[in-house]
Amino acid sequence: MIVVAIDGPAGAGKSTIAKALAKKLNLRYLDTGAMYRAVTFAALNRNLDLSAESAIAEIASQCVMHIDDDSIIIDGVDATQAIRGQEVTRAVSVVATNSLVRTELRGRQRQWVSEHGGGVVEGRDIGSVVFPDATLKVYLTASPMVRAKRRVAQSGGDVELIAAEIAERDQRDSSRSDSPLMKTSDSVTVDTSDIPVDEVVDHIERLVDAQRLNKRVSN
Ligand code: C5P
Repeated sequence: MIVVAIDGPAGAGKSTIAKALAKKLNLRYLDTGAMYRAVTFAALNRNLDLSAESAIAEIASQCVMHIDDDSIIIDGVDATQAIRGQEVTRAVSVVATNSLVRTELRGRQRQWVSEHGGGVVEGRDIGSVVFPDATLKVYLTASPMVRAKRRVAQSGGDVELIAAEIAERDQRDSSRSDSPLMKTSDSVTVDTSDIPVDEVVDHIERLVDAQRLNKRVSN
């Protein structure tokens, strides 16, 4: 089973690259950030306080979530657009510090991968915690200004303000006690600041091929 883990900070190009890579490798693609966002969306809809840990964890454990490449539906509500909005984006990294939520979503992510026979999975803790034995682990990054400009190109806004919001979210994601964003010693770092998407995808595809060959030889 092939599992490619793609982790990294906000705006590094994870989604674009993971989707394109999945297509090339004929694998399915899983956006785990969308899962954290969907739980946050449901919590906000219920007017829950973000510190209501067990009530939010209950959403993560009880909800029915349908996720595919282009949409996410939680408890029958199409949250595809709303999870990208400002309200969810500002709250999600707080919800992501909730260990009970993380445990639930980790379980769902592993189940999804086993049901789909592998996949390209993007997030923050995929190579470090969710799939420590992934075929390949990539830590995707880009300079803070490039990342902020990409977000502005996608959804508009003021570049300085977006850069500050991204920095705050990255800080929260990297400093939480449960499965923080980090580079693992066995991951390959790819800086996408000055490289076109197709080149990054080709590069990672070659790395996957090399890893598969390596694993076949050593088994
Ligand atoms: O990838 P995206 O920016 O949509 O992720 C939204 C948030 O979800 C992240 O800032 C992080 O707080 C959380 N997340 C996480 N672990 C993952 C994926 C996302 O904590 N595997």
